[in-house]
Amino acid sequence: MDYYSDDLTALISELSKLPGIGVKSAQRLAFHIVSLPQESAERLAGSITKARNSIRYCKCCQTLTDREICPICQSPARDPSTIMVVENSRDLAAYEKTGRYNGRYHVLHGAISPALGIGPADIRLKELMARLQTEDVKEVIIATNSSLEGETTAMYISKLIKPTGIKVSRIASGVPVGGDLEYIDEVTLLRALEGRVEL
Ligand code: ZN
Repeated sequence: MDYYSDDLTALISELSKLPGIGVKSAQRLAFHIVSLPQESAERLAGSITKARNSIRYCKCCQTLTDREICPICQSPARDPSTIMVVENSRDLAAYEKTGRYNGRYHVLHGAISPALGIGPADIRLKELMARLQTEDVKEVIIATNSSLEGETTAMYISKLIKPTGIKVSRIASGVPVGGDLEYIDEVTLLRALEGRVEL
C-alpha cells in the first residue's frame, strides 16, 4: 500500500481496524473522507474524539452513557425492582426499542467463555451482585444471548443469585440459537420476554 501518501495510508490502516471494515472498504472510506470539505472532515474527527472522551459506564447499570447515571437508571418511571441482565448496550437498545419493558437493566459487557479465557471476573458481574445487596430487587431477568457463552453465563448468574432468594428468570428460547439479540425483531424479543421461565 505504498501507492498513496503516508497520511492516506495511515488513515486507511486505522479505518481497516474497525469491525466489519476490510481493506477495500477502508480505502473507499478514506478516499471519501479526504474528498470531504475541510469542515465536514473536522466535524467527523471531532465527533469521534468527543464521543470517546465523554462516554463512560453508568455507575449503576454499567451501560455506555455520557452521564454518571444513565437516563434509564435515573428515570422515576422505571421499575427498580426488576433488573434485566444483557450482554451489551446494543442488546439493551434492542429491548428499549420494543418500548414494552419498564424495569431497569444491567449490562455485563461480555459473556463467560472458557474457550476464549473470559471468566466471571472479566464481565461486570461483581457490580450486579453489589446492586442486589443495596437495591430492593424482586426479579432478575437473564437476557443473555442463546449462544453457548450466553447460556453458560445465564447458568452461572442464576446459581449465584439463587441463594439470595431473589427470583431469577431466563427469557424464553424463541430466540434462535446463536442469535444475536440486536438482530432479532421486536415481536420475537417481546415473546421471549413474556414467555420467560423461572430458573
Ligand atoms: Zn444506568
